[in-house]
Amino acid sequence: MKTSSLLSLWVAPFLLLPALTAAAPDAGVFDALHRFHGHRCGGSILGARLGAAARSALGDEVSKGKVRAVYYATGCPLDGIQVTTGSTLGNGTIEVKDRKEMRLRLSVEGVRGAVEARPTELALALGSESKVLTKKAKGLPQGSPERAELEARVAEIFARLETAPDGEVVLTTLVR
Ligand SMILES: [Zn+2]
Repeated sequence: MKTSSLLSLWVAPFLLLPALTAAAPDAGVFDALHRFHGHRCGGSILGARLGAAARSALGDEVSKGKVRAVYYATGCPLDGIQVTTGSTLGNGTIEVKDRKEMRLRLSVEGVRGAVEARPTELALALGSESKVLTKKAKGLPQGSPERAELEARVAEIFARLETAPDGEVVLTTLVR
């Protein structure tokens, strides 16, 4: 197979703009993720955003071969990544290297180069806040106004993480 390259994207960086301004995945993706993952959480949502942004940054290259993923941590984001990249443990196209880094590398078999995606500072902050508030809410009596208030704030954070434009929540770079 002829090896093509993502190099053309480096010499024409404006081509990346559509990926950077790409819209968030639609609500159906997050519903599927929720069912697959078993709960709604910031980590799985962020994983889905990393996967979707990285895949869209690969552009048309995804049609040239198998999409392969490497994720440099474990945990909830892995499920989101599998849902939006199609690289799964089942089909053998995702590799996990646990370096405690929320970093996804996505490439296409036979195509030189890769795309890396990481969460922005804002996304990390929202993810942490949702985790803290969820824990706090669980310590309060069910049905109490205090708990409802915290749960509403968590729901707001999840909605923001799901719907923010890619550029707000994901940093995408091309690597050799
Ligand atoms: Zn989770």
